This record gives sequence, C-alpha cells and structure tokens, in this order.
Amino acid sequence: MRNWLKNRAKRHEPGAMGLNQPELGLYVHLPFCPSRCPYCDFFASPFEPDKAKALLGALPGHLDCLAKMAGGRPLDTLYLGGGTPAMLPAAWLGGLLEAVRKRMVINPGAELSIEANPGALGARKLKLLRGLGLNRLSLGAQAMDPKGLKALGRRHSVQDVARTVKQARRAGFDNLSLDLIYGAPGHDNARTLESLGRALDLEPDHLSLYELTLSPHTPFGEKYQKGVAPLPDDDQLAEFEEQATGLLAGAGLMRYEVSNYARPGFECRHNQSTWRGGDYLALGPGAHGHLAGRRWAYLAGVKAYVDKLGKGEEPLEFCEELSPLERAQELVILGLRTLEGVDLDSVQGLLGRSLQEFWSGPVARLNELGLARLENRRLVPTSKGLAMADGAAELFM
Ligand code: SF4
Repeated sequence: MRNWLKNRAKRHEPGAMGLNQPELGLYVHLPFCPSRCPYCDFFASPFEPDKAKALLGALPGHLDCLAKMAGGRPLDTLYLGGGTPAMLPAAWLGGLLEAVRKRMVINPGAELSIEANPGALGARKLKLLRGLGLNRLSLGAQAMDPKGLKALGRRHSVQDVARTVKQARRAGFDNLSLDLIYGAPGHDNARTLESLGRALDLEPDHLSLYELTLSPHTPFGEKYQKGVAPLPDDDQLAEFEEQATGLLAGAGLMRYEVSNYARPGFECRHNQSTWRGGDYLALGPGAHGHLAGRRWAYLAGVKAYVDKLGKGEEPLEFCEELSPLERAQELVILGLRTLEGVDLDSVQGLLGRSLQEFWSGPVARLNELGLARLENRRLVPTSKGLAMADGAAELFM
C-alpha cells in the first residue's frame, strides 16, 4: 500500500474533512527506531539521543501554533506513532504530554495511543507510560512464529510479545492492539494462520493485519517482486485473508476496516475518525494533518524540521486545499474500506448532488459486482467489497 490514500488508511495518518465531526485528533510522529526493518518505508531514523532531545525540545514551540489551529476544540484522540515512540524515555514522553495538556484540552474520555515494539520495554516502563495517561498500546508483533519473525527481519521473539502483553495488562492497559503482517517471503497459509492463532491466544482487544507491501526503495522492494516466489501470489493471499477473517471473528474480533479487527467498542477511534473525514492536527517531522479540507505534511527530516521551527517558520513539506469533489472522493474511497461505509449526506453536502446521481455508473457497478449496497443513507461494502476495496475505490478515481 504505497499511494497516499492506502498509506493513510493502513496506518495512522488518514483524513479528509470535519463534516459532522466535532472530534479533533492529534497525530505525533516520533521517528526513532532501534534499527531499520527491511520492508519499512515510513519516515524513521536510528535513535540518536542528541537528535531526539533536540526534537523533543522543539515540539512545545510547535504546539503553540497547533493550539491556535485547534481554536479551543478539545482533543478526543492523540496518537504517538513513528518510528517507535515507546523507546523514548518515559520522562521525555511525559514532558511532551504535559506540553500538550498545557496548551490544549484533552477530553476526559480521550483515546491516547502509543506504538511500541515487543521486547523493547519492560514492566516498569509500561507502568510509567500508563501513568502518563496513555490508555491504548499498539504492539508491533508482526509475526508469532520464529520463521515469520526472521523473514521480516524482526529482532524480538514470540516470547517477547507474550511477555510484553502480560506486563502491559498488569500495567493497566485494557485497550491493547497487536500488529501482524502476512505475505512475507516464504509465506505459508497454514503457518501464518497458526501464528495468528497464537496472537489471538494473547486475547488482544484489537488486531491490525497488514499485507506486506513492497516499496521500491526498501531492501525488500529491491529484492522481491509481488507474486514471485518466495512471495505468495494473489490467490494464496485471498484464501489466507478469508480464513484469517473467520479465525478472528471466531475470537470475537470483527473486521471493521480492510486491515483492522476489534472487539466491539475497541475500534481505534483515532483512525476511525480520520476514515470518516475527521480533523486531526499533526506534530513532528513527517506527520500529516487535516483540517476542514486543508491537508498538509511536515518536513520528513528531524534536523530540517527543528531548524525551521528555530527560525520561527512552519516546517511544511506541502500544504493543499482539497476541492469539494476531492473531499467527496476521499470520503467514498476511505468509507468503502470500512464496515460502516460512506455517509451519503456528507457526500451530498460536498457535491450538491446525491452520490447515487453523481457517480451513478460506479454505484451501479458496485451493486452489480456485489461489492456494496445502499442502506440507511449509507453506501456499505459487502464482505466481498471489503476484500476487494482497492478495486471498488478505482471506480471512483
Ligand atoms: S519498527 Fe516500524 S517504523 Fe521502525 S523501522 Fe520497523 S517498521 Fe519501520
């Protein structure tokens, strides 16, 4: 998934507009990692204490600008992503959260997420993170078998994942998500389903199941080609996806977005809001934001970002205003990736015409192919439609 729509849907930086959406999110990108995973094309760099300190020192100044952009709207979600934000000292993260709280109101029931790597943090650190008010932990397990972990070039073990989950529960994280990747080199449906089963034995509240994507400028992108051994072909992946969805449903985790499954009530609110076209501010190098049709990203370089802020300038990589048509298109494309589908009234509000009238051909085609249906003022994907969301989206491009 490497175009911007797919990237944002996949991880944690989607967005469009604030139609009927009073919630405001804040995405913070902390791009440091202990090492580089061979498939990763996110903006991440090796942890260097001085660089990290300089960045954390610059963020409060940037938060002053964000507070103005928020205009008094309280934050309903905050997402510390990266990178591996949990590898930073808890005191630094505490300072960052304090800086946010000083400048913005965080709703009492807000979802405050942090991404972490298993094995890189122990019981004490987890307690400290929970003590900071972070209430949702997203663990990058990626695989739950040694062969799968090795194929992805991950350094942690299956035992590390199990131990971290146990410690996180004890620390009070009652909203816990695991990330898994399928379709890695040497992928085998039976083994990967067993790996998924082991993840489910840990009773996560949420699970993100991502198909490995090859980005050209990564070691995997240079070495492998989609569908050519040792990577699986599309038929094998489709079969796996169907079996995995059944296994997850059996464990009580229902698919609510193409790559995301949750127990009822544990859907990731931050991502849900962005898929619905909600507003979210951005902080940190490489972070993307969206506010009422204005979309922007900050420079994906720690030094460049800090230097710009030091000069009193906004460290923008780009900024664009979406036209009403682009906003409607984005709502449709992201909505067709979610179980709840597309809100017809929001689309009509943007286009001045109904979705069915404006896109009569694509809507008829979706219906004909059994990919989506109109229901209660929504265009809702079928399970076949969710499995073929990319194809469904293409009809609207
Ligand atoms: S831990 Fe995540 S962000 Fe860091 S290099 Fe690996 S995949 Fe990329």
